[in-house]
Amino acid sequence: MTETRSTCPYCGVGCGVIIESAGDAITGVRGDPDHPANFGRLCSKGSTLHLTATREVTLQTRLLQPMQRAARGATPQPIGWDAALELAADRFAATIAAHGADAVGFYISGQLLTEDYYVFNKLAKGLVGTNNVDSNSRLCMSSAVAGYKMTLGADAPPCCYDDIAHASTLFIAGSNTAYAHPIVFRRIEDARRANPALKIVVVDPRRTETAASADLHLAIAPGTDVALFNGLLHVMLWEGWTDAAYIAAHTSGFDALKARVRDFAPKDVARLCGIDEADLVQAARWFANIDATQPAGRAPTLSMYCQGLNQSTSGSLKNAALINLHLATAQIGRPGAGPFSLTGQPNAMGGREVGAMANLLSGHRDLADARDRDEVARLWGVVDVPSTPGLSAVEMFEAAADGALHALWIACTNPAQSMPDQATVRRALERCEFVVVQEAFATTATCGYADLLLPATTWGEKSGTVTNSERRISRVRAAVAAPGAARDDWAIAADFARRLEARLRASGGSRAVVERSLFEHASAEAIWNEHRETTRGRDLDIGGLDYARLEREPAQWPWPAGAGAGRSRLYADGIYPTADGRARFVDAAYEPPAERRDARFPFVLNTGRLRDQWHGMSRTGTVARLFGHVPEPAVEMNPSDMQRLRLADGDLVTVTSRRGAITLAAQASVAQAPAQAFIAMHWGDEFLSGAAGGPAETRAPGGAADARPGRAAGV
Ligand code: SF4
Repeated sequence: MTETRSTCPYCGVGCGVIIESAGDAITGVRGDPDHPANFGRLCSKGSTLHLTATREVTLQTRLLQPMQRAARGATPQPIGWDAALELAADRFAATIAAHGADAVGFYISGQLLTEDYYVFNKLAKGLVGTNNVDSNSRLCMSSAVAGYKMTLGADAPPCCYDDIAHASTLFIAGSNTAYAHPIVFRRIEDARRANPALKIVVVDPRRTETAASADLHLAIAPGTDVALFNGLLHVMLWEGWTDAAYIAAHTSGFDALKARVRDFAPKDVARLCGIDEADLVQAARWFANIDATQPAGRAPTLSMYCQGLNQSTSGSLKNAALINLHLATAQIGRPGAGPFSLTGQPNAMGGREVGAMANLLSGHRDLADARDRDEVARLWGVVDVPSTPGLSAVEMFEAAADGALHALWIACTNPAQSMPDQATVRRALERCEFVVVQEAFATTATCGYADLLLPATTWGEKSGTVTNSERRISRVRAAVAAPGAARDDWAIAADFARRLEARLRASGGSRAVVERSLFEHASAEAIWNEHRETTRGRDLDIGGLDYARLEREPAQWPWPAGAGAGRSRLYADGIYPTADGRARFVDAAYEPPAERRDARFPFVLNTGRLRDQWHGMSRTGTVARLFGHVPEPAVEMNPSDMQRLRLADGDLVTVTSRRGAITLAAQASVAQAPAQAFIAMHWGDEFLSGAAGGPAETRAPGGAADARPGRAAGV
């Protein structure tokens, strides 16, 4: 048996795993006791990873050779790698020649490795000359990026997992940590055992498992988070719980925010959010944590937050309004204190670091800054990087549906199941003239729309790096050879890029200012080293983190050349990466949810993860035991709503939103407030045979919905 150290490919906790293999078969997996993210622990998903890589699962689910579809709707036929990539290069070159660089787009994934991300970003922004490269991280973490940049000046989570053990209050907002980040939740349980006085406040419209474990559950009305945070600041100001000295020395913009929160009186906020005024005041007291016995005059408060804040039409302001509270109370920059965004996907952080989104630039540079763009162009050897932000994920599909985006490359993600507004997404995929899907799994809904299917390696077969929520970079390592003709994602992208580059040079359309190819990388390590160069002197400088160093242990950035260690916490000195070194308060106005309940759509539909499933289930859906927790999709409703609608558990209902409908079983649950419904995010059409036809839009957080008894054939 061979043992290979690697990283779990599911959530942003980034747990270390030891893969056991014999020949080309992965035979087992266990937690890596030496990995600082998990110290040997794994959740139900991580501990069953080997069951997703059996020979049977591989044969049933994997894309094993390049395939071409001669026409939409036709059965795809095998094609060789050379012919496939030549075809792709021809079609992209022709599209660029006919319609310009912005007529093509790349939709990539927070599940790619940093090296994969790097090549796609350079391919789009450097070689093609378009910023139309965006990631499915747009759907989860882009609000966290904006929140950090608006307030602290850089997209850098200032905390670490160790802070959970140091905190006196944990303020968890919009995160069902128990399900979505189970190993972080184990740390919370440990912290409570070690410190029974630890206070846990959970902000969530649902009474999740995490909320049920809290000392105080603020079950706010969906979408009222900014009002809640402004109300908490109002109370803190009124009670004298803010830190005037810290505000004066290390921040700017407080006066405008102070004027803003004057209007957020506790009574009004409590009514708007649907909570008790006394609970609001208690949450403010525990957050501020005044304690004269502590050196800082207050005990530390750590906030942790996830999609409940991020996936919202006011997601950036929700993030900023929460960070405002940390700045106003100096709850940042010391053990146990700070705003800590929990990353959904395993490498959303790595994608942000290489700048592989439509409005970001490599090494946390600013797309709007001409000097930053020039630096990247020089590092890459291209004439420039375009200044106009590209199309975001949602815009990319809207543009394709409108006929403005002609060629689309999709890698390691399944938009035909996971994007909001499925009707538009599927119309986009149908209308787009050339769709390439680079995938490990042949079973995803998006594969059905591809003109060209390119088989990619996946967990256990590929090597590179990922960055978890606490800025810790871990190695991902291959334990077995790639199945069939599958190739690494970075290698597919680089091979395509070289072929496109040759065509652009031949036609005089090259943007390169160097003779050599822009994509000479012979290995993931070569890409990593190029990426490291782009970070030198930046806030995330990883000049000192070569593969040899990472072989020894996972490491947190920044880690500049010559440093002996990474940094666990940021901003201990109160100096922020802004022009004047001060953090910025954001004057966060409260905007109600974009869609409200009305007579036609009387429910608010919330979505979220289940404990044992991951995203669109292309991997977890292959493991029978992971269905033991929740065997089938359901719409959960408060018992009072079930009674009013004369529904019993198991009755089929059709849930209709303004964008689509889905038919599934009803289930009574006291975890849902009256007039709210919950559907887990995981199941798509592939799992819902018999659903009521047409697009089934189920992931519109905060969207309004209707639930009626249905007569569908079955779920
Ligand atoms: Fe994998 Fe996340 Fe579970 Fe850790 S907590 S084993 S990273 S799914």
